[in-house]
Amino acid sequence: MRREATGSVVGRRNEVASQHNGRRRRGAVMGTTVTNEVRTAYRICPLCEAGCGLEVTLEGDRVKRIRGDRDDVFSHGYICPKGSTLKQLHEDPDWLRQPLVRRDGELVPVTWDEAFAEVERLLLPVLEAHGRDAAAVYLGNPSAHSLGALLFARPMVRALGTTNVFSASTVDQRPKEISSGLMFGGGLTVPVPDVDRTDYLLMLGANPFASNGSLATAPDWPGRLEALLERGGKLVVVDPRRSRTAEAASEHVAVRPGTDAFLLMALVNVLSTEGLVDVGAGLEPYLAGLDEVLAAAEPFTPEATAALTGIDAETVRRLARELAAAPTACVYGRIGTTVAEFGTAASWLVDVLNVLTGNLDRPGGAMFTRAAAGSSNTRGTPRYGRGLRLYRRQSRVRGAGETLGELPVACLAEEIDTPGDGQVRALITVAGNPVLSTPNSGRLDAALATLDAYVAVDPYVNETTRHADVILPPPTALQKGHYDLALLQLAIRNVANYSPPVLPLADGQPDEWEILARLALILQGLGASASPDLVDDLVLRTLVGAMVADETSPLAGRSVDDVVAELGDRRGPERLIDLMLRTGPYGDGFGAGPGTLTLDVLLANPHGVDFGPLTPRLPEVLRTPSGMVELAPEVLVADVARMSERLAAGVPDDQILLIGRRDLRSNNSWMHNVEVLVKGKPRCTLHVHPADATRLGLTDGVAAEVASRAGKVTVPVEVTDAIRPGVVSIPHGWGHDLPGVELSVASRYAGVNTNILADEDHLDPVSGTAVLNGIPVSVAPASA
Ligand code: SF4
Repeated sequence: MRREATGSVVGRRNEVASQHNGRRRRGAVMGTTVTNEVRTAYRICPLCEAGCGLEVTLEGDRVKRIRGDRDDVFSHGYICPKGSTLKQLHEDPDWLRQPLVRRDGELVPVTWDEAFAEVERLLLPVLEAHGRDAAAVYLGNPSAHSLGALLFARPMVRALGTTNVFSASTVDQRPKEISSGLMFGGGLTVPVPDVDRTDYLLMLGANPFASNGSLATAPDWPGRLEALLERGGKLVVVDPRRSRTAEAASEHVAVRPGTDAFLLMALVNVLSTEGLVDVGAGLEPYLAGLDEVLAAAEPFTPEATAALTGIDAETVRRLARELAAAPTACVYGRIGTTVAEFGTAASWLVDVLNVLTGNLDRPGGAMFTRAAAGSSNTRGTPRYGRGLRLYRRQSRVRGAGETLGELPVACLAEEIDTPGDGQVRALITVAGNPVLSTPNSGRLDAALATLDAYVAVDPYVNETTRHADVILPPPTALQKGHYDLALLQLAIRNVANYSPPVLPLADGQPDEWEILARLALILQGLGASASPDLVDDLVLRTLVGAMVADETSPLAGRSVDDVVAELGDRRGPERLIDLMLRTGPYGDGFGAGPGTLTLDVLLANPHGVDFGPLTPRLPEVLRTPSGMVELAPEVLVADVARMSERLAAGVPDDQILLIGRRDLRSNNSWMHNVEVLVKGKPRCTLHVHPADATRLGLTDGVAAEVASRAGKVTVPVEVTDAIRPGVVSIPHGWGHDLPGVELSVASRYAGVNTNILADEDHLDPVSGTAVLNGIPVSVAPASA
């Protein structure tokens, strides 16, 4: 079936606005009677990984002001310009308040019951005719910032029973999850930089002045880095671009895109050859593979890698000596290192360096969070675990390996547009906008239009969901409870904070978890009208059942019924998070300790609870089969041969490489419908070094055509010496001018979609992650 993606919703906005204004209150919020009195609510900002505390002032149902919560135990009042825009997002007339269903090519508003009935009508025949793998699921990045989605999307995926599961992780962090899983035993057992206590921070591919950090949760990264410099520490930023963070750093090292792994390997080489390896007596008994990793680095001398990385040998030797000599030091790599050809190798070598310099698991180095809830490294037998298993199945078309239960999202388009047994004919997306965020977006955009059925859980008609047959909009952030279940596992301080909903749901409006639970019920054949409580109870009882059977759990030997009864009348995410908190490392253990934490404790402490700075956790944090830190996992050591081949191939003449960039007022494609964030000087421009501009005949402010194997875009040039010669940059998440998109603000600041240029065949093969950093392109003046 081919659908038109025009989807204009005639009269929808007026109808929706009238319903929204006239809605009935579904329930009191936090037990208060809502009047027009002014009140204050506190909640965590869910928009990025920093987790800042917000103070929300309301008059009745109207948000009057949002500012930083000065009493928040972690953020102390800090917010970035995005934080206050939860108000604009809540009031955005383009945010759908009612489900949409495609009728005669148009997306039209319907009731929730009609929408779920349509889901059943569309999806079940596809599954019955072609099997479960005929449907794919894509979990977008915002679902990691929603408690309801985190807890109920996976049950929905299990109910669907497909092996075609995709997520934004394979255009983002999967390399780090894999290296951490192989080295430490858990995909989220990621050592985070102890920024507040370190003396020396070597940062690669990260720009926390714009992004506020990633895979290292901390509000006010800029302030923390400034404090590092003020106390006499050193910050070295490795980035092809002189980013805002690089501007503020002690030193900027302008590496060639995609070569961080070679620079890191050269640093290992120098530590080894100059006798600077000192893992520390505390760490040594728990290390496996030290000799192997040092041997692997032998060919990668600073002299051998200099041409490829663009960093001269003396600089590399100096950096290695500084790292080794610093009282405390930490190496931290983020997205520039992971969305690259050797992304998993770079992620691995970051932590190898932390080990070799004795900085793993000590204050001021790279440390492990002890999260209050949800962490796999605080459950089960300390030190020993199952470890990480990879490549248990392959994708149908190109045979790409599964990692962490998912296939590379770069394969999604071909799984849809390649005929044959097992072809994907139906899709469910939960948040995210893969048409803007995944490689060769043009191919995916075309493929989505051919699906037999597409159901989106999303608040907007965006570049992806314009192809949907059914759109099921979740409530706004202010209407949902929030606990950063994933991100607090990566916090640079042990904290916990729960935010109850600030505003009520409208009458009949389901919460996000209820939407996902109803989808699960439909997919299990229980019908469009079955109660989401069935899924809620099943998820809870499954979790409790595992805990009572685990002799290391405080619930060991208890009755499932008794534990469920003790959790009381709460439903959905609140009940589940209460269970997780109570059985976590600070929990009351239902009377069995070790602490006192419950959800009620967090509700009584709206500014959060601080459990203090990170403390050493080795060896109990480990969950590897050997019970050791695996410095030389077989998969990663094997990949060194690929690095050697790349090193031998040398540097092509006159190659231009495309990289992305991040802006403080943007977050992927999420925030482009907020006028206050996107107005002003256009930010979707092509950064070009002056020497390249002259060589290529480009003029500041005039359009250039950028082309790759996958596609081409036309974008205005911005000449700047902040970028390395031979490198150009376009920010991602833009390109809002496609027909049928219902983003009235974003469409006026459309920009171009840089992922049209990303090549779906160019991956880091270890992780299946698309290469978005270092795309070979040609650049020329656009023809008039
Ligand atoms: S830094 Fe992130 S969490 Fe903090 S206010 Fe900004 S968007 Fe929200």
